[in-house]
Formats: sequence, structure tokens, C-alpha cells
Amino acid sequence: MKGRLRSSVGEDVYSSWFARMDLESVQPESVHLSVPTRFLKSWIQTHYSDKVLTCWQAEMPEVHRIDLTVRTAMRCAAPVKEAPAPVEQRRDDGRPAPELRATAIAPVSASHDALGGSPLDPRLTFGSFVIGRSNTLAHAAARQVAEGRRGDAVMFNPLYIHAGVGLGKTHLLQAVTWAGNSGTERKVLYLTAEKFMYGFVAALKTQTALAFKEALRGIDVLVIDDLQFLQGKTTQAEFCHTLNALIDAGRQVVIAADRPPSDLESLDERVRSRLAGGLVVEMASLGEELRLGILKSRVLAARAHHASFDVPAPVLDYLARTITHNGRDLEGAINRLLAHSKLNAQPVTLEMAEREVRDLIRPQEPKRIKIEDIQRVVARQYNVSRSDLLSSRRTANVVRPRQVAMYLAKTLTLRSLPEIGRRFGGRDHTTVLHAVRKIEALVAKDVALSDEVELLKRQLQE
Ligand code: ADP
Ligand code: MG
Repeated sequence: MKGRLRSSVGEDVYSSWFARMDLESVQPESVHLSVPTRFLKSWIQTHYSDKVLTCWQAEMPEVHRIDLTVRTAMRCAAPVKEAPAPVEQRRDDGRPAPELRATAIAPVSASHDALGGSPLDPRLTFGSFVIGRSNTLAHAAARQVAEGRRGDAVMFNPLYIHAGVGLGKTHLLQAVTWAGNSGTERKVLYLTAEKFMYGFVAALKTQTALAFKEALRGIDVLVIDDLQFLQGKTTQAEFCHTLNALIDAGRQVVIAADRPPSDLESLDERVRSRLAGGLVVEMASLGEELRLGILKSRVLAARAHHASFDVPAPVLDYLARTITHNGRDLEGAINRLLAHSKLNAQPVTLEMAEREVRDLIRPQEPKRIKIEDIQRVVARQYNVSRSDLLSSRRTANVVRPRQVAMYLAKTLTLRSLPEIGRRFGGRDHTTVLHAVRKIEALVAKDVALSDEVELLKRQLQE
């Protein structure tokens, strides 16, 4: 029978899940099998119960039922303090008994460093995470997860956070890990996808795959960073199993990746949909305000060790405005300023900042400006309504703003004169041309107007 099962599921699966399965008794219509842990039991039940039954029926067609139970811990090879009662598993609550930890993790964690988790950076906590428009939701969800207690209902599972490079994914995940491990009695494990792969592959090599899996399931919150790096069929299958097992057991899973689940092409469709079935949150690029906040918190952190270090407000503004790409560049900029001011014993100045961070500044993609935006901004500036601009009213307080708006539409967009005329209440292209000429002429001699127009341009280009 074991041979049949082995050839039916393959050597890998067999040795992972069935090597420690024992036959307890055989009745006319049922077979009683046992495994050493609850987890193994639920795993086999959810994934292989049909297979096991089929294999028995091939030899004993009258068998209709397989009973699978957990052997008491006394019979396990591993020493455990508390012998869990022989449990008849109840699938209705889906929550593993508390002894799962004692039996599964105790013998394993000592011998298995793959589960030590990936190293954590002590600076990446909720305390240093700056909240802005682009990450409010992700932050709130992460906090919620971090504050959960063992046994709490899991609200969103998995929590899946995706964002481009340097937008704070790792920061948020590590914050969850720190908070979870210090505040509550839960065990939170942070693993990069690479570490997950490495741990699993290493475990396979040393034949401790089973122990690895069991230990993995002894945790309350599994945090996996950079899921897009998960590669290899076996690892992915294993990840899929782990994910399902944890979620089914009511444990929290938190994942970060650089793309949404649907774009993880190398992953199986079922895994993708499972990933998408929890809460998927995107963190957008950092806005200028958020960038400024991050810079300030970085300076503050640096000052803890270098009291004399200071970055004047105009320099911070300059950096926040020009380093638009990501959080890593912001951090890099502050580090350079710190290094430079220390080495040369000089205070940080704007010139120095400009020189030091030149290569971190990427040429901004010219933003595409819409005519509606122009109309909105101009209307606000001159305190008229947008419909006033589009109307046929000719009072001075609307004529000038309208001309300015048409002028901006011509200079800031690629729209043609007739198109612009159409968008301004169906005016003729000659009217637009007249407006453009008029404002050009005025700007050349009227400093106040010229400043006004510059200001409007800047607002629109931001
Ligand atoms: P990712 O993992 O998304 O590539 P990280 O979490 O490594 O990005 O963030 C890159 C850098 O930017 C880190 O130094 C991080 O602390 C910082 N950072 C990003 N977002 C924030 C934020 N909201 N608050 C504070 N620091 C941030
Ligand atoms: Mg990261």
C-alpha cells in the first residue's frame, strides 16, 4: 500500500507527507491511519484524502473510509513537555490546537536555522514610517495586522501590498514583524522570497523538509517580502501549499511584491487568485509632502548620532522637490550630506546639496497637462468659476482670466488653436490666437502679470 501511494504521488511528496504515517488498524470497511502531528493530518486530509483512499481501494475494494488521527506526542520521536490529548480533528473551527506549536516547533527551531527568518533592520518600524496619501491604506492594514492577537478573527488574508522599488514595502513589512513580535504573544516570521526558497531547498537537501514545513506552520504571522523573486516549480508548489495551509488554519499571511498578483506570471493561476482573494493594496509613488516627511525623519534619525548635523529647511524642500524617484534615493541623499558635512566639517548648504545629489535627480518626465486642469487652476487663481471661463460673458473680470487660460493651453499643451477654441465654449480659433498674442505682449512688459503666469505654470507642472 505504501509503495502504491509512493508511486502515485511521487517520491518528494511521499517523503514530505507520508513517511511518518502509520497504520493503526484495519476494519472491514475502514482503515485507521495515524500521523504525528495535527498539521500533517489536516494537510493530508485536505490534499490527499482521495489519493489515499484510492490506493487502499486498489487493494481492498470494500474499504470506504480512511480515519486519520494524530498520534499522541509521547509516541513522537521529539521530546515535548506536554502530551497533547489525542485529538479528533474538528474541521469546523479550523483553528489548530495550541499544542501544535509545542509539538511542531520545539524540536525543529533549534536545529533549523532556515526559520531564523531574514534579518530585520531595527530602523524600519512603524515609528519611523511616514504616512502620506499614497500609503495610508497600506499602513492602516499593516497596523491592523500587527496589532492582532492570537485567536482574533483574521480580517484580510493574505494582506498583499504592492508598489515599485523604494516605496516602502520592506519598511512596512518589517514594521509589522517588529510590532508583532514585541507587542503580542504571537510569533511573526519575516522571510524574503529568496530566504523561503533557500530554506526550502536546503531543507530538501538535508532531508528535513518536513521539519521545515512544520516549523513554518508553527507561526502566527508569515511575512514574505519580494514575492516576485519566488522561482522554481517545487518552491512555488510548496509556497502554494504553505499559503493554503496557513490561511485555512486562520493564520495571517502578509506579502509584498513589486506588482499585483495578476502580474506574477510565473505563478500558478490558483496561487494568484488565492493571493488576490485577501486585501490587495497598492502604494503609489511618494508625493512631495511625503518625501519631505521622510527626509525630515531621516535627518532626525541621523541627529541621534551626529548632534551637530542639520539640514536647513530650504535644502530639505529642494531635495523633496527634485528627488522624486524613491525612498532609497532620499535616504542616500541624507547619507551623502551627512558624510560630506562630517568629512569637511562644514554645514549643509543648498549649493553643497545641489552638487552632492546631482546624480540622484532624474530628469522629470514632462507632465501631460490637460486643458481642464488649466481652466480649473486659472479659475481658482482669479476667483471665477470654470463655467465663467467657458461662457460668452465679456466683463473684464472674466475676459483676462479667459485669455490667460487660453494662452496657457497653447503654451503648455500640444492642442491646436481650433481645438482650444472648442474647449473654451466653442470659440473661433482666431479668438484664441488673439488671446495668446495679447497675453504674450502683456507678459513682456507687465511684471505682475508675468509673475502670475509663471506661478500658474508652476502649479500646473507640479
Ligand atoms: P521597497 O521595499 O518598497 O523597495 P523600502 O521599504 O526598502 O522600499 O524603502 C526604501 C527606503 O525608503 C527605506 O529607507 C525606507 O525606510 C524609506 N521609506 C519608504 N517609504 C517610507 C515611508 N513612508 N516612511 C519612511 N521611510 C520610508
Ligand atoms: Mg523591499
